[in-house]
Amino acid sequence: MKIAFCSSEVYPFAKTGGLADVSGALPIALEKLGAEVSIFLPHFKTVGNNGHVTRINNRISVARLGKKINVYFIENEEYFGREGLYGDSAGDYSDNLERFQFFCLESLKLMKELSLPVDVIHCHDWQTALIPVYLKEKFQQDPFYRKIKSVLTIHNLAFQGAFPKIKFPHLGLEEKLFSPNGFEFYGKINLLKAGIIFADQVTTVSQRYAKEIQTKEFGCGLEGVLSNRKNETVGILNGLDYDVWNPYEDVHVRMKFSKDDFFQAKAENKKYLQDSLDLPIDPNIPLYGFVGRLSHQKGIDLILESADDLAKMNVQVVIQGIGDEKYHSLLSELEIRYPKTFAMCLKFNEDLAHQIYAGSDFFLMPSTYEPCGLSQMISLRYGTVPIVFKTGGLADTVMFYNVQNKSGNGFVFDQYNKRKFLTAVEESIGIFKSQKDFDILRNNAIHSDFTWDQSAKKYWDLFKCLLSV
Ligand code: ADP
Repeated sequence: MKIAFCSSEVYPFAKTGGLADVSGALPIALEKLGAEVSIFLPHFKTVGNNGHVTRINNRISVARLGKKINVYFIENEEYFGREGLYGDSAGDYSDNLERFQFFCLESLKLMKELSLPVDVIHCHDWQTALIPVYLKEKFQQDPFYRKIKSVLTIHNLAFQGAFPKIKFPHLGLEEKLFSPNGFEFYGKINLLKAGIIFADQVTTVSQRYAKEIQTKEFGCGLEGVLSNRKNETVGILNGLDYDVWNPYEDVHVRMKFSKDDFFQAKAENKKYLQDSLDLPIDPNIPLYGFVGRLSHQKGIDLILESADDLAKMNVQVVIQGIGDEKYHSLLSELEIRYPKTFAMCLKFNEDLAHQIYAGSDFFLMPSTYEPCGLSQMISLRYGTVPIVFKTGGLADTVMFYNVQNKSGNGFVFDQYNKRKFLTAVEESIGIFKSQKDFDILRNNAIHSDFTWDQSAKKYWDLFKCLLSV
């Protein structure tokens, strides 16, 4: 089976969030199952020229991933030679439609020019959602493309690639496709919507989110379009790359540890983290970590709203992230107001992220919605107990710790308000104080299994099934 991945983020080459982790890990997991995989990615400036990338010509460069996976970088200095992937401090780049249209079309053209045999093109999010449309509307007559199936995975329905109607001619498609049954969404071009309609198969990244997005509450206006395609929409939980996120071999952490021997190392990592963040060094104060985009989705507003109460609870909270400017200033003020409780690292920094996962006792992830979420899986892998809102992938991966039968790997609150959130934090403090229970809970957490094996097999079966019709 020959699969071409098209994604705007692939770890370790370009990353702003979980999409990169998935596009860097799933191809390797599929390769292990026997698939022949190639990856297409824009040659963003962040990729750099680190010696691993070889220029083939002025349109394409290549690097390796896994055993034999070619990662093809689409060249275009004007479009991709910028600081950000999608935008800068002033907001999204105004030519994002042109940039990603170019990426989609160029990827398709190069597959043919490279004589790359392809059975399935696996697209991700709005940035590559034009590919299913082009396959059906532009390339259907070309024997190279005719039999190729397209799969579109939605990693976050809130980002849809909406652009002014006036840009439609730039897509090079028949005008009639700008209609409610195609690209049109409230008078604008909506790339994700078109991708959902034209893809042979739609997937999203957890079973619960697959159901949620068909409702008004979570559908971001596309619930009707998704319900129309409900027979071709499935949820497959993301896995985690256990080689990238491996506390036993993690060069970023102070003291490495395995899932069978971690209590002492975690205590050491906590001490180091408290020290480096200028927090009081005290093993008896529970330390809560947060790593993520600073946005309403990730629950920053709820944390801000609860800040005064948290400060009274004798806990420590470290928040790492970048995002909306308003959160940068509000969080900085919070750190000044409560220097013994809050420590802020408002930047993107892999090194520190690993240290937070390894050194915290608990991990805060009160997302308003969460398609899958990787951070809670990473924290579990590092024996750090997640506290999550019951939504999407968080609900599919974190189970409430039951003191009676000692099952469960975290804390879950089921109504989105400050009171419920703080109750979950109080419950975690209660367990933290009972050393025996805390150790059992951490043991459950670190033994949770979210490797890619099972999920990759599900994608494999799905691709096979698509190719058999
Ligand atoms: P998203 O919705 O952003 O994709 P996920 O939980 O699926 O959220 O994945 C987030 C990924 O991005 C994780 O690997 C997390 O560690 C990483 N990440 C987010 N913010 C930062 C940051 N400021 N510094 C380092 N890594 C970050």
